[in-house]
Amino acid sequence: MNTKMLPRIIYPLPVKTNWEDGILSLKDNIELFLPENIDNSFKELVTEIWPGFSFGRLELQLKTDNTLPQNSFLLVVNNKPMIPILDETSTYAVCVNANGIAALAVDEISLKHAWFTVLQMLQAETSTPEVESFNVPYVQIQDHPKMNFRAIHICVFPETSLEFLEKIIKLTAFLKYSHMVIEFWGMLKFDVLSELSWPQAYSKEQIRPLLELARRMGLQPIPMFNHWGHAAASRASFARHVVLDQNPALASLFEIDGWTWCLTNPESMRILQQIRAELLELFGNIEYFHLGCDESYSHAMCDNCRKHDSPTLWADFLNSINAELKQRNIRPMMWGDALLEPDKWEGYTALSRADQRTHEALELLDRDFIISDWQYECEIPSNESATIKHFIKNGFDVVSAPWYDYKNIQTLAEGAIKNNAMGMLFTTWHTLPIRMPSIVFASVMAWGKEDGFNDFSQYDQMQRSICGSLCRKLHGKASDYKNAGWRTFEVCESV
Ligand SMILES: [Zn+2]
Repeated sequence: MNTKMLPRIIYPLPVKTNWEDGILSLKDNIELFLPENIDNSFKELVTEIWPGFSFGRLELQLKTDNTLPQNSFLLVVNNKPMIPILDETSTYAVCVNANGIAALAVDEISLKHAWFTVLQMLQAETSTPEVESFNVPYVQIQDHPKMNFRAIHICVFPETSLEFLEKIIKLTAFLKYSHMVIEFWGMLKFDVLSELSWPQAYSKEQIRPLLELARRMGLQPIPMFNHWGHAAASRASFARHVVLDQNPALASLFEIDGWTWCLTNPESMRILQQIRAELLELFGNIEYFHLGCDESYSHAMCDNCRKHDSPTLWADFLNSINAELKQRNIRPMMWGDALLEPDKWEGYTALSRADQRTHEALELLDRDFIISDWQYECEIPSNESATIKHFIKNGFDVVSAPWYDYKNIQTLAEGAIKNNAMGMLFTTWHTLPIRMPSIVFASVMAWGKEDGFNDFSQYDQMQRSICGSLCRKLHGKASDYKNAGWRTFEVCESV
């Protein structure tokens, strides 16, 4: 498929797009009719992002039409266009013709998706020195995602600015991701223990508006806090430890190397419980809580933990958290690497160690847990998604979790779709600023690509520039050098 031949490029690619002869021209004041009962968040969203896509040149007047069905909109140019009929499987439909643009959706988030699709079809008329009007080709679109759970995992490092976070939230919501897992690397201030964060960490008051922004745009936030390995809240590569570098005397909260929380220290348990309480208060109404639980190199190595059966100690700890979250109808998520035995999973990442036997916890864990099966080396045919199948066979819901590599993303997305897994969690870690276009690619794969869509080499260059263009429009106003794009500098020594 050559996307350059299409009148418009829409990410993620809609399931059915019938382009027709004719171009709708939008100029002067445009009226957007909404049903009477539509939520204010939709109106706020429209008002917020329309100027960026129309370069502030077209005023959009919001009007109410009480004859409109729920979850619909009409953008009227001549007479009111007909509301499209939804195909059986569609979550939204859009129709553009000489009268204007009409959309219908199954729910309000899908109506936001319809709006994002429409905005991607606006193209400035280029016959005048400055933009005066916009063209939209006549088209009928029927669309739905192949996976309902399409999440991205975002890390907030000391280098991550609030402006960058805002950009990522807007971009991922616009690309129709459904959820965003947010992991603070020592970058959120907790009341329970000041050493859990660096002095430059963000306050809850600074983060709250970003969570509201995510929800307004149709993206559901998921809090994440590492409850086991990665307790340093810093990359293993450089040996920082957010707690112990600020207060070495707190060493007994962790195992001997500081990397893993000590599961037999009551004070560790109290602090982790309080962290969850604070995150639950901050994140508000949520469906999922990610507990981390990957790469626990030093699990149960202290003298107290050694007295316990290793897998039972870990599973009991996690099940007790599940019981707490279940009271609030929240499901826990966890990484899956420690639940896999290396000898059995050649070609996959499997990090249960012989002396820790953490894979034995799989049988002991409550089936409420959602396993995030991260596999970054997998480029094998998707019908061999053995670890996905293994977790499903054992009664768990699974989300496959790729990283930036395109073939890895494609393999894990196809594996999840083919095996009817719960969805996909696209991870970005510390490489996000140099891998931004992979957000676009993963959105296409999680939504469900068309058969035969495989020319990713050509796709990459286009994604990079289109990703930049979308970020600019979603930002909606001029930027200075430092805040333009997604990196604060143009040149550094290594890349
Ligand atoms: Zn211990």
